Order: sequence, then structure tokens, then C-alpha cells
Amino acid sequence: MIKLAEEIIAGRRITRSDGAEMFIKADLQELCTGADKIRQELCGNRISLCSIINGKSGKCPENCRFCAQSAHNCTGVEEYPFLDADKVVEECRYNESRGVHRFAIVTAGRTLSEGDFAKAAEVYRRLSSECRISLCASHGLLTDEQFEELRRSGVDRYHCNIETSRRNFPNICTTHTYDDKIACIRRAMAHGLKVCSGGIIGMGETWEDRFDMAVSLAELGVDSIPINALMPIKGTPMGDREQITPEDILRTAAMFRYIAPEQEIRIAAGRRILSDGGAEVFRSGVNATITGDMLTTAGNSIQSDIKMLTEMGFDLEYREKE
Ligand code: SF4
Repeated sequence: MIKLAEEIIAGRRITRSDGAEMFIKADLQELCTGADKIRQELCGNRISLCSIINGKSGKCPENCRFCAQSAHNCTGVEEYPFLDADKVVEECRYNESRGVHRFAIVTAGRTLSEGDFAKAAEVYRRLSSECRISLCASHGLLTDEQFEELRRSGVDRYHCNIETSRRNFPNICTTHTYDDKIACIRRAMAHGLKVCSGGIIGMGETWEDRFDMAVSLAELGVDSIPINALMPIKGTPMGDREQITPEDILRTAAMFRYIAPEQEIRIAAGRRILSDGGAEVFRSGVNATITGDMLTTAGNSIQSDIKMLTEMGFDLEYREKE
């Protein structure tokens, strides 16, 4: 794997025909060391921190089997309409003052209603004039006009997970398709937005599905790839699934670095499955994470993340937007 890492640093790129097998069979330590080497050489020492606010919660008509927000699942999740703009601005300012690099509003639903989209665009305009933090948005399957409006409102990256492989997608959701997601990502890119797209592992997919998802994301040319480990939620069809192992998280993260060597590989939900705040995953190819003082899935605060990553020698003292 070290030799493969050196080849990737020299310009080789993994394609679908390479297959998943070498990553499944590789010695885990060697795989992770190679991934760390690729990260150092091709991405440098920066770690990207992002935080999200749940801007609208619950009652989603879609049937994603992992999700607490779906109206098809009985999870007792808190439901509320689009948040008040002042609350979002306050939260964004807080995250910026703590040293977070990106801030996103995430909303439940297939898309946003006209009224909610207008509220979102207005908040982004305020955030981009009142804060210096980079802005992401996650509002489902938007139209061309809406992406254009988001970009004009100061958003520079759009989040839309493909969730899993094309083969496995119908096992996860049937109210929209993998192709709906790909088309949405391409629309966002066509309007000059960068894209953050990844998925969830531990939903019953095979290693070939994980490999396939990573190759698809590399081919699409997304900027940032979030990897979430499923945190099974009672009341969803995935509520009784066994939690994925730390070894599987590390192997997946490292494999993604070989396949998408220059992108941000972002560890998101499930970091608390790993020991020591997930330090090991940042030595296995990962160079971005979701953080925050309000998140229940990460289990780390902004301050503890910054302390850990600084002590590991990473650079967090930069701004994407000057
Ligand atoms: S579309 Fe989004 S909010 Fe709705 S069920 Fe799927 S993941 Fe959850």
C-alpha cells in the first residue's frame, strides 16, 4: 500500500477497474500510513472544521431508512419550522468566534418551499455581510434558479450526500433516486458552487459499495467528502443495526483518501465510536471534520477538537475567506 500511495502522489488515480479487493485485504496499519502520506503530500497540513445548524426539523416526506427526520419513521424527533434569522446569525457568529472555518444551514425535506427558500436566501445574505466564515447550504434537491440565488447570496459550497453506491441506494430510500442526487450535484456545480457529498457507512452495504461510492465522488469532482458512521436511531428501520467497528471506519477513511487523494475527506457522524476523540482517523487520511458545541453525534466540543488537532501538529489558524 505504501508503494501505491507513492504512485498516487506521483499522479496515478484509482479507477473502478482497480476494484475494492486490495483495500479490503491490505494490512490496516500500512493502509492508514499510506493514506496519511498521500494527505500530507497532496493536501498539506490544514484541517477544515465545519459546523451546522438544523434550520428546519422533522416531517420530511422522504423515506430515507436511517433518518430521524423522515415522517415515515417514528423517532419523536423535535419538529420546528424554518428558524428565526437572528438565531441562525447568532449561532454562526458563535462558531466563527470559536475558530470554525465553515458554517451550514441544513434543513429536513426533499427541497424547500418557496417561502422557506426566500428565508434561507435572506439569512445567507445577512451571514455573508455580517460574518467572515465560509458558507455551505444543505436543502435537498434544488432547482437551477435556486442554486443561482444561493451563490448570489454568498454560499460557496452545497451539501448533497449520495449516501451509498448506486446499487445500494434503493435499499436506503425509494422516494427519490441516486440519479436525482447526481443531477442535483451537477446543477450546483454548473452554477459555480463547490460541492460537499459523501455518505453513511454501516447501513448493510458491502465493501464494494463503499469503494464504488468513493470512485463516484472522485469522478464527480466534489470538493469535500463527508464519511458518516451510522448511529442507529430507534424508530427507524435501521434502529437495530449493530454499530460499525473502529477498524471499519479507519479502513474506509483511508481507502477514500487513496481514491480521492486531493479532496477534503471529512469525518462526520460517528467519530465517538473511535477512541481519543478520533485522533487516529486524522492519521489515516482524514483532513476535515464536522465539529460543534451543539452536536450530539460527534461527542467532541470545538475547543477539544482544536486542542487535539493543534497538538497533533495540524494547522487550524487560517481562513478560507479573506
Ligand atoms: S431527505 Fe433528508 S431529511 Fe428527508 S428523510 Fe432523507 S435524509 Fe432525512
